[in-house]
Amino acid sequence: MSEKILVTRSSMPDLDEYCEEIKKLWDSHWLTNMGVEHRKLQADLENYLDCPNVVLYTNGHLALENVIAAMEFEEGSEVITTPFTFASTTHAIVRNNLTPVFCDVNPDDYTIDTEKIEALISEKTVAIVPVHVYGIICNVERIQEIADRHGLKVIYDAAHAFAVKYNGVSAANFGDASMFSFHATKVFNTIEGGAVCLRDPKIVEIMNDMRNFGIHGPESVTFVGGNAKMNEFQAAMGVCNLRHLDDEIAKRRQIVEHYVSRLEGVEGIRLVKQQKGVQSNYAYFPVVFDGYKMTRDEVCALLAKNNIIARKYFYPLTNSFECYAELETAGAEKTPVAAYLADRVLTLPLYADLPAEAVDRICDIILS
Ligand SMILES: *Cc1c(COP(=O)(O)O)cnc(C)c1O
Repeated sequence: MSEKILVTRSSMPDLDEYCEEIKKLWDSHWLTNMGVEHRKLQADLENYLDCPNVVLYTNGHLALENVIAAMEFEEGSEVITTPFTFASTTHAIVRNNLTPVFCDVNPDDYTIDTEKIEALISEKTVAIVPVHVYGIICNVERIQEIADRHGLKVIYDAAHAFAVKYNGVSAANFGDASMFSFHATKVFNTIEGGAVCLRDPKIVEIMNDMRNFGIHGPESVTFVGGNAKMNEFQAAMGVCNLRHLDDEIAKRRQIVEHYVSRLEGVEGIRLVKQQKGVQSNYAYFPVVFDGYKMTRDEVCALLAKNNIIARKYFYPLTNSFECYAELETAGAEKTPVAAYLADRVLTLPLYADLPAEAVDRICDIILS
């Protein structure tokens, strides 16, 4: 049987390049707490993302959890979000003692359906947490309009949208804040890692302390913070990976174009359209099997039988997780479009070094 193909494979710099980058840590013995690599990565990212306020984190989830905390919403307030996402988005809201109110998604681009947001706004609503799912940019203009009209904060889960631009503007610059994940499986990785990009410099100061026990100065602890700092080895990985990111994205683009050339126009197979004005990062390749000769589950099983691991991403929806069974706002039936997609979507293997022959093998099996 042919070699196993996983859904993703982490990008890594040459070992020599990484060793060169971490060499200085053996001289300084400074391993964490905002050392030289941390400062370099932060500066590189502020430049790359075109955002003056980047706060690095040990992972994306804690970055999201903390930025929501930093907004100091009243306990029990409501946050409008979507269930067609990774567990992290909803957990970050609930772990802040806020109530997620699930809005349905668009059938074409899987992002929050802005026509359905206003009906969900109540006196308790304080924020919208939309997701640029698969790197697809939400309707950011309309979301901002609604937020401004109702005095709501907008915090984007931009975990998938690193390096994406919309009309030339980096995805880091929409809403009040955007969270990026640098997890090993993401387009840009620092092994584990993440960051928040912020509009308000006052929140930057809060988050700088929040990720470090609430310690503001050597003799001043101003609030009860946790520990979520990015260490020097993570930052060094980021410094190296960022140098090669544009090349990696260009390779991903070729793979995506190859997939599209094979699967586009096939009856019962739906692909995401290229968004107008969007410079994509080609992070994922979601395929919706809707009326195809095989169901999504059958395709997934057939691929697995051939040693190819695709992923039911995102299934189940977060609003049907067992841990939210008691939550009044839970229930996949409240978001029928998301429920429909979750039953039919499969993300196919995609990473920079996926060979063209592998794409053909995968498509041959799907089309067989
Ligand atoms: C990966 C991911 C996160 C969490 O990021 P980590 O860095 O793994 O903590 C949050 N939201 C979405 C949509 C993700 O895919």
